[in-house]
Amino acid sequence: MYTGQCHCGNVRLTIPRLTETATRCNCSICRRYSTLWGYLTESEVDISVGQYGTQQYSHGDQCIDFHRCGHCGCVTHYSTTTKVESDRLAVNYHLFSVQDIASIRIRLFDGADTWQFMDE
Ligand SMILES: [Zn+2]
Repeated sequence: MYTGQCHCGNVRLTIPRLTETATRCNCSICRRYSTLWGYLTESEVDISVGQYGTQQYSHGDQCIDFHRCGHCGCVTHYSTTTKVESDRLAVNYHLFSVQDIASIRIRLFDGADTWQFMDE
């Protein structure tokens, strides 16, 4: 099990495995959040939220809810909305320890333009 947490510890994410790759995306929102995404499924990720709760942000076609800690503001994960048939849950690997994510290959996704990985 691997656990990541926001800066203040209000939100904790526990996952059973690390993904082989992580995605850094240059779309309008990801480049501002500076997130590093690991794509898992809703059933795999245990999300513990403390007294400060979380806040959500959705934009554009409202397919994704970005979640952030209600206290320190760290972006913790995103989930898909009911408009999308997907059980993807993306965790922000920047919340996990440097050692845990050191061996994960980072892929650059061109979410700003072509919607392709740029290393293919
Ligand atoms: Zn926090």
